[in-house]
Amino acid sequence: APVVGVLALQGDVREHLVALAAAGAMAREVRRPGELAEVDGLVIPGGESTTISKLAVLFGLMEPLRARVRDGMPVYGTCAGMIMLADKILDPRSGQETVGGIDMIVRRNAFGRQNESFEAAVDVAGVAGDPVEGVFIRAPWVESVGARAEVLAEHGGHIVAVRQGNALATSFHPELTGDHRVHALFVDMTRANRTAESL
Ligand code: GLN
Repeated sequence: APVVGVLALQGDVREHLVALAAAGAMAREVRRPGELAEVDGLVIPGGESTTISKLAVLFGLMEPLRARVRDGMPVYGTCAGMIMLADKILDPRSGQETVGGIDMIVRRNAFGRQNESFEAAVDVAGVAGDPVEGVFIRAPWVESVGARAEVLAEHGGHIVAVRQGNALATSFHPELTGDHRVHALFVDMTRANRTAESL
């Protein structure tokens, strides 16, 4: 089974570990550059993107993360993790950096305060069957994508799931539902990449 890490600096790490294991991965926490070097793929969880950014710099992980994403390591970001994968944030807090990897501009907290949390059925390209139950918690949306990024889902006219090569991002949190199909899609991406690298 592919080894999939969860960036464990802040956020809903445990839920991703459970979802990844259910989707067939060997899941483990990643806090140090040495741990990052050992995984076949990585999830960046939901949480608070400013905090995750600052801790990644503090733990010496920001440059190693950028390097591995640049080298094509499969990576999946949910919510704050989506923000971390954006090449550009529309409204960054001061000092907030991203790993990048997806040619998109995200707007933080875009779905607004009064709707801080809601659920909606979302059709995700590449996920067969019923729509995914999208859990949105102070979620970002994607303002625009560049030519290399593929839009996988929209909600209310806004882009909420994107893929560019081996990088996947959703505004919502499949790890908070019992439905592991998006994690299975990501584990498949990781397995395919590992096979390609060993050929
Ligand atoms: N609003 C948060 C941020 O900007 C993201 C919220 C979440 O991950 N649920 O990082």
